[in-house]
Amino acid sequence: EPDRESAPGSVETHCPYCSLQCGMGLRPGGATGLEVTERPAFPVNRGALCGKGRTATELLSSGARLTEPLVRRSPGGPLEPAGWDEALERIATELTRVRAAYGPDAQGVFGGGGLTNEKAYLLGKFARLVLGTSQIDYNGRFCMSSAAAAGIRAFGLDRGLPLPMADIAGSGCVILVGGNPAETMPPALRYFTELRENGGRLIVVDPRRTRTAELADLHLAPRPGTDLALALGLLHLVVAEGRTDERYIAERTTGWAGARAAAMAHWPELVERITGVPVPQLREAVGHFCDAESAMVLTARGPEQQAKGTDTVGAWINLTLATGRAGRPRSGYGCLTGQGNGQGGREHGQKADQLPGYRLLTDPAARAHVAGVWGVDPDVLPGPGRSAYELLDALGRDVRSLLVLASNPVVSAPRAAHVEERLRALDFLAVCDVVLSETAALADVVLPVTQWAEESGTLTNLEGRVLLRRRAVDPPPGVRSDLWVLGALAARLGWEKGFPDDPEEVFEELRRASAGGPADYSGITYGRIAREDGVFWPCPASADGTGADGTGTDGTEVDGTGAGTRHPGTPRLFLDRFATPDGRARFAPVTHRPSAEEPDAEYPVLLTTGRVLAQYQSGAQTRRVAELNAAAPGPFVQLHPRLAERHGIAEGDPVAVTSRRGRAVAPARVTRDIRPDTVFMPFHWPGAGRANTLTNPALDPTSRMPEFKVSAVRVERAGAE
Ligand code: SF4
Repeated sequence: EPDRESAPGSVETHCPYCSLQCGMGLRPGGATGLEVTERPAFPVNRGALCGKGRTATELLSSGARLTEPLVRRSPGGPLEPAGWDEALERIATELTRVRAAYGPDAQGVFGGGGLTNEKAYLLGKFARLVLGTSQIDYNGRFCMSSAAAAGIRAFGLDRGLPLPMADIAGSGCVILVGGNPAETMPPALRYFTELRENGGRLIVVDPRRTRTAELADLHLAPRPGTDLALALGLLHLVVAEGRTDERYIAERTTGWAGARAAAMAHWPELVERITGVPVPQLREAVGHFCDAESAMVLTARGPEQQAKGTDTVGAWINLTLATGRAGRPRSGYGCLTGQGNGQGGREHGQKADQLPGYRLLTDPAARAHVAGVWGVDPDVLPGPGRSAYELLDALGRDVRSLLVLASNPVVSAPRAAHVEERLRALDFLAVCDVVLSETAALADVVLPVTQWAEESGTLTNLEGRVLLRRRAVDPPPGVRSDLWVLGALAARLGWEKGFPDDPEEVFEELRRASAGGPADYSGITYGRIAREDGVFWPCPASADGTGADGTGTDGTEVDGTGAGTRHPGTPRLFLDRFATPDGRARFAPVTHRPSAEEPDAEYPVLLTTGRVLAQYQSGAQTRRVAELNAAAPGPFVQLHPRLAERHGIAEGDPVAVTSRRGRAVAPARVTRDIRPDTVFMPFHWPGAGRANTLTNPALDPTSRMPEFKVSAVRVERAGAE
C-alpha cells in the first residue's frame, strides 16, 4: 500500500533528478496516471519545481521503459527477452567464471550518484563481501570528487554545503565559481535573487555569460582552466590591501605562510595575463567580498572537473580562510553538488576508497567497525580499488566483468569512444536500468529496475539533509528493485543472508555501519525524517541510551514528546571547530599550473562542457520525456562570432569539433555570451554530437577527477575540413 501523507491524496516525496531534491507531492491523475503536486512546506524549494521535476512522472509509464530482463544469448547476437531466473543465473555463472579464471579483482562494479543511500550501501557491501572485489567506483567521481578532496584536506570533513541553502540569501557576498543554477537547479535561484534583494552581492565566475551570470553584480570570465590563478590573484589583493583576518588566521587555521607565499607570487597583472580577467575586475571582486560582513564561495563543476580540481577548489577555500569566513554564520565555502544523491552516494561505500559512514577503507578501526556490522573478519575486506575512469580504462584487460547500476558511462565518461571500446572488450557486462541506455545496449544481461516513485529510500541533498523518498505507485509487473536484485544475486553466489530488499531494514543497518564515522547517520530514522522533513548529518544516536526516535531502547518514549534527548542533527558545521585533529582549518599552498592540454597550432581553441536546462546528465531519462526533448532536442556548439567568422561558420551550420580523442559534430550557436577562445558543448547526447568523445581523461592526482572542463580542440565548418 503506498505510504499516503498529510496532503489529501498526495504522497510527499522528492524529485528523481538533481541534488536540490525538491519536495513534491504525487497523486493519481493527469495524462500519465500520476500527477506532480506542490509541497510548499518543504523548506528547500517551497513548492517550486523546474521542468524536469514537473514532468518527472512521464518516464514511469513511458513506452521506453524496460519491463522484462534482456539477455544476449550469443556473442554479437541481439538482446532478447528472458525470465528473471535465466537472467540472474547467467550473471551468477559469468561472475563465478570470471572470478575462478582471473581472481576476485577481475569483477568490476560501477555505481551512480543517483542511487539511494540504501542502494549505495548495499552495492558496496555486495562488491566487497559477495564478489570480494576492490574494483568498485561510481560516476560521482566525475561530479564533485575534487570538492570532496579539497574539503577533507582543508576542513577534515566533506559535506557539500556546511550550511543550509537559506544561508545564501542572508549572506553579504557570494562568489559562485563555475556553476549555473539558473539552468541546473532553477528553484535554487531564488536564494541568489533574495541575496541581491537583501543588499548582498553576487559574483559569478564562468567563461560563459550564463543565465546565472546575467543576474550577477559582477561577472568574471576567465579562460577555462585558469580559475586557480584567479583565486590566487584575489588572495594576493586581499593581502596587499591589508584585508586578511589575522586573528582568525592565528586562532582557527594552520599553514598560512605557504598559502600566502603562493598568492604573493601571483600579482594582479600576471593573473590578468593568465586568466584574461582585467585587474579592475579583480579589485572590484575583492572589494565586494571583503566589505561584506558575511561572505562565501560556492563552487560547482567548473573548477572541480579539472586535472587540478582539488588544488583549484583549495585556492578558493584559502580565500575564505584568509578573510575569516569559513565556520562563521552565512559564510564560508560550499559545493553545489550535481546528482540527486551526489552527497549520500559518496558516503556509504560505493566509492573505491571508502566504507560506510564516509570512513577510509585503509583505516584499521573503520574496517573493524564495518566488518563487525557485517559479521565478517576485517581481513576479508579488500583494499581500495581503481577510480572510475581508471576502472573503465582497465575493462577487458585486468577487469573482465562489470556490473553497472544507475550510470551511463558511454555518454558521461571522458574519452567516451575509448570507454565504449573498453566496455565492448569485456567478457561480461550486466546493467540494471529503467530504460535501454547506451551502456545497457552493450550489455550481455539487462535487468529492468524500479524507479523513484515506485520504491522508498533515503537521499542526502546538497546541504547534507537526509530525506525520504516515498513509494507512491506500484511498479510495472516484471520490474524489480535494485535492492532485490542485489539480494537475489547474493543468494545465488552463496550469501543467503545480509542483503534484505526492504529499504528501511537496509537503512537500519546503514545507521549502525555509519555510527561514529564522519557521516554519522546513527541518530536518523525513517520516522524522524518524515516528522522533521529531513535531518542533517552528522546526527549520532544519543549517548544516554535513548534511541534515534527519542524512544528508550525498549521503544518507550523518554519524555512524552517523542523528542527525548536525541541529537538535533547538524545544519551548520564548523562553527566552533573544524573536523581536523587540532580543530583548525588547513590552508593548502597551491600554485597555478597549466591545464593538462593547452591550445597549440593544431588544436588552438578550448572546449568546455556542461548542462542545459531541459536535460539531465547523460540524458538517459530526460531525452525520453517529450516536453524536455522538445525543449532541448540535441547538442550544439556555442561559439563567439569572432571565432565563427574566422572559420566561415554561421548560426545553425554544422560544426566539427576535433580533439586528440576524436571528432563531434553539432549545429553552431553563435553568441557573444562566450569567450572568443572557447567553445561550449552540452554533454547529454550520444552519437555524432557526443561532447565526451572529445574530453580529456587526464586525472587530478588526489581526487582522480578527469579534466572534463578543459580540452584543446580544432573547430571547422563540417564538410569544409
Ligand atoms: Fe528536480 Fe532539481 Fe529541478 Fe528541483 S531543481 S525539480 S530537484 S531537477
